[in-house]
Amino acid sequence: MSRIRLLSEQVANQIAAGEVVDRPAAVVKELVENSLDAGATRVDIEVEGGGVGLVRVSDDGEGMDKDDVLLCLERHATSKLREAVELQDIRSLGFRGEALPSIASVSWLTILSRQRGQPLGTRAEVRHGVLSSVREQGCSMGTVMEVRQLFANMPARKKFLKSQRTELFHMEEAVKNLALVHPHCAFSLHVEGRSVLLCPSGESQADRMRRIFRYQDVLIPLHAPQDEDAGPGEFSRDGGIRITGYLLLPEKAPARTARLRLFVNQRAVQDAMLRHTVREALQGHLMRGYLPAGMLHVHVLPAEVDVNVHPAKREIRFKSTEVVRRLVAAAVTAALERQEQSLRENLFAPASAGAKQAYPHSIGRTTYTSQEQPTRSALASAEPQPLGGLGGMTDFAQQGTGRSVQGQVQAVAWDDAVTGQSVEQAAGADLEQQGFSGLRPIGQLFSLYLLCERQGQLVVIDQHAAHERILYGRMVQHYLSGQAPGQRLLFPVTIELEPALHETLEARQEEVATMGFVLNFFGDHTWVIKQVPALSSGLAAEVVLQEVLTTLDSAPLAAQDGRLSPAMEAVFASLACKAAIKAGNRLATQEMLDLLAQMEASDIFSRCPHGRPVLKIFSAAEVEKWFHRHGS
Ligand code: ADP
Ligand code: MG
Repeated sequence: MSRIRLLSEQVANQIAAGEVVDRPAAVVKELVENSLDAGATRVDIEVEGGGVGLVRVSDDGEGMDKDDVLLCLERHATSKLREAVELQDIRSLGFRGEALPSIASVSWLTILSRQRGQPLGTRAEVRHGVLSSVREQGCSMGTVMEVRQLFANMPARKKFLKSQRTELFHMEEAVKNLALVHPHCAFSLHVEGRSVLLCPSGESQADRMRRIFRYQDVLIPLHAPQDEDAGPGEFSRDGGIRITGYLLLPEKAPARTARLRLFVNQRAVQDAMLRHTVREALQGHLMRGYLPAGMLHVHVLPAEVDVNVHPAKREIRFKSTEVVRRLVAAAVTAALERQEQSLRENLFAPASAGAKQAYPHSIGRTTYTSQEQPTRSALASAEPQPLGGLGGMTDFAQQGTGRSVQGQVQAVAWDDAVTGQSVEQAAGADLEQQGFSGLRPIGQLFSLYLLCERQGQLVVIDQHAAHERILYGRMVQHYLSGQAPGQRLLFPVTIELEPALHETLEARQEEVATMGFVLNFFGDHTWVIKQVPALSSGLAAEVVLQEVLTTLDSAPLAAQDGRLSPAMEAVFASLACKAAIKAGNRLATQEMLDLLAQMEASDIFSRCPHGRPVLKIFSAAEVEKWFHRHGS
């Protein structure tokens, strides 16, 4: 007699249930997904007894007639897929026809459903996979699925459930993930009679995001502003890939929401590649110890992604992983640049005429006599500056004094911190004509922070972090452009390298030359440094060379697709940190203006290369609050 037997339908379903519905949260997820697939615009979820007592999901979707109610309980019964080829083009959340029979096999399931156009609905009750009753019943349009006694017939499974709190957390997460990427649909979640989540229908993606993340601060959109209105789940028609979503300012995100949620075609997924790509693209924008937070949504043609690789569909496989990776990285980079750009406009745009009247003191321009020209400092650029804002500097200094004070603009005199000389403030209009920022330095705090003023704002700038970012940006730009300018050493420096670093240098001379070094081999392990990268010319030449070689030693690639490798980014970050003006440096007014102009001209200026913020903005209202002046 054969030992091999076909399992009964019921056992087969229970086995499937082990994979598909491993915990109450999976029941919630499967039922809500069915509601969304049925075109619901409202989904209400109630949970009792930690999910094993009751899960009830009600929707206003298309509903089922009696035949379908009975059929949906059969294994592999689905309305979403007919032919195998359609597996290549899945546009619904479900497609296997596995969830309902699986859930029914491990619970008491009641289905109440009325199809559009039908006078009456159907009520079916199933106990552990066995249909116990079917009858007609009046009900509202749509479907109510009620799951009770979950896993009561599977003591082993029930024993493995975690605390109620953990299970509730997972259920809440499942609902939040679905609600996030279906912002047009209304959701409510009640746990033990308490309302946990309430989302109105027709929300914008940004509003839904704020609601679910409980986050009101700045959202950094991952999509271009013109894409704002394209609904979620809309693939680009040309078959291209669309990236949408929002990043949160990580240091402001509440701990509970400070993580990144990933979605592909409206499905929450776990994907190491996506997570890693976002993190890498944010390098230099995240402080140590912070992770990216927010949501990333990749929309691809269904044929470009395999969603059938995981029992609970938590993982997916892209056909062209590399393309997705590059697009995600580019989206994050572009988002950060847009963010900087709008901050730049906000900070540096010249104050409007109206604002000038309201803040007569906030316009100012410092003029110097030729003798007062600040001496070359760490801030002076070590190379010719093609950028308007910086090039203007010299003209500015040479124009001398004698600017007349115009109109109602009031002249303010203040003592220069360094020279002790009285500095004349003259008309702001000229300043603007020269392309100068509307940000006026009013002094230096603790020899580290520039205090600046612009219409209705106090801006505090960390001079070290600001300068570090500027130098870093230029170093990277120079390196990627293929040749960084160098600074000849008046007295060449001889250095004996450790054997390992010597080998690295021999192997990678070209890259080292690109950074602006000129080195001569002297014999044995000894080299003569004749020229160093211009931007680190203030540092000891041998230290710079050793630091660069040590990193190259451990970094197989210096750059790839126009981006530096993280190891190289770290070298430049460290060099920039060393070369930048320090805390304790008193800055002359001209130097402050110079720093501001350089910030304005940088692609990225708001964070140092280690991700620390460069500036803080306080509105006039905030300052007034410090003194309880509000309303006055
Ligand atoms: P799948 O979602 O993979 O098709 P399920 O077992 O989850 O498999 O559901 C089986 C079928 O039952 C679905 O294809 C759908 O036709 C029907 N169905 C399930 N839930 C609903 C619902 N809330 N509204 C309308 N139809 C539903
Ligand atoms: Mg389903």
